[in-house]
Amino acid sequence: MIPMKRLDDYLENAKTVAIVGHVNPDGDCLGSVFGTYRYLVENHPDLCVTPYASFVPEYLKFLAKDVPFDDTDGEDRTYDLAISVDASAKERIGAGKAAFENARRTLVIDHHETNPLFGDENYVVPKAASASEVLASLMDPDKISLSAAEKLYTGIMQDSGVFRYSSTSKETLLAAAMLIDKGVNFSKIIEESVINQPYREMKLMGEVLMNSVLCPETKFVYGTAPISLQKKYGLSSSELANVVVELNAVKEADVALFMYQYEDGTWKASLRAKCDVNVALIAKEFGGGGHLRASGFSFERDPEAVAGKVRDLIRTLKNK
Ligand code: 5GP
Ligand code: MN
Repeated sequence: MIPMKRLDDYLENAKTVAIVGHVNPDGDCLGSVFGTYRYLVENHPDLCVTPYASFVPEYLKFLAKDVPFDDTDGEDRTYDLAISVDASAKERIGAGKAAFENARRTLVIDHHETNPLFGDENYVVPKAASASEVLASLMDPDKISLSAAEKLYTGIMQDSGVFRYSSTSKETLLAAAMLIDKGVNFSKIIEESVINQPYREMKLMGEVLMNSVLCPETKFVYGTAPISLQKKYGLSSSELANVVVELNAVKEADVALFMYQYEDGTWKASLRAKCDVNVALIAKEFGGGGHLRASGFSFERDPEAVAGKVRDLIRTLKNK
């Protein structure tokens, strides 16, 4: 789909621009924030652009090499324009949340179906497999540098599960092809950010799988990583993104739930589905959200009780 307006057209008379993404940033979020940053600074040298990111996980460090990002809330700045990318709701914005709230004008670019269109202007494409894909379609291909292309390619590749999730479309592949044409070393990016994993992360994954529970009747598998387990391997909650992917690879399960604890004792849940059980609906029951096949939510205590409730919801949804 060719958008009516290019990203450049949304700038209007802005002189200062903030770019923000979501909490616990993943490949699509950072690819979107950093790719937009490179595109804007390279093509609009008079603009003052600040990219926000609360942190960059180890497997995505290469994305940040030419991006001086700000990890604060941005409460001391008033921008002419704030662009939120890949955040499904205002509450989900991570670093730069105050910068977004205080900006003179806001623009939301996203691909979450549940997005309430919280910007002054909104460009949300639920059919798109990633926010990076949406952004690539908004940019002038002739003005995308190799650096911006690497970031957007990483976002598209990560959020589409290396082009294998059902969200992958012709547009996804055309966007990736356009970016590869800029010289992106795609095999190196996939090897470094998807295939290679630190040994201790793999060991934790092994232990989570070993202790996981499979419910054959509902085809549901769940696993947990309490703080004690994370400490055992010297890991933190930001380094566990791959565990749910492995749980979702269990052949006997349609739905996978991975629950991990934060330092403050609260818990985060990640849901994935291989079938048409809409896990966004399940996450919504717990105050979260997401997509048909990938969603999440937070909760305070007792992961076993949460797993039990999720199992009941799967049963209800399957019987509909
Ligand atoms: P993940 O499991 O990778 O953290 O998240 C999967 C998907 O669910 C992402 O698209 C993310 O936006 C969404 N998601 C995860 N946690 C939450 C949450 O607490 N609230 C909402 N609204 N969406 C979430
Ligand atoms: Mn995304």
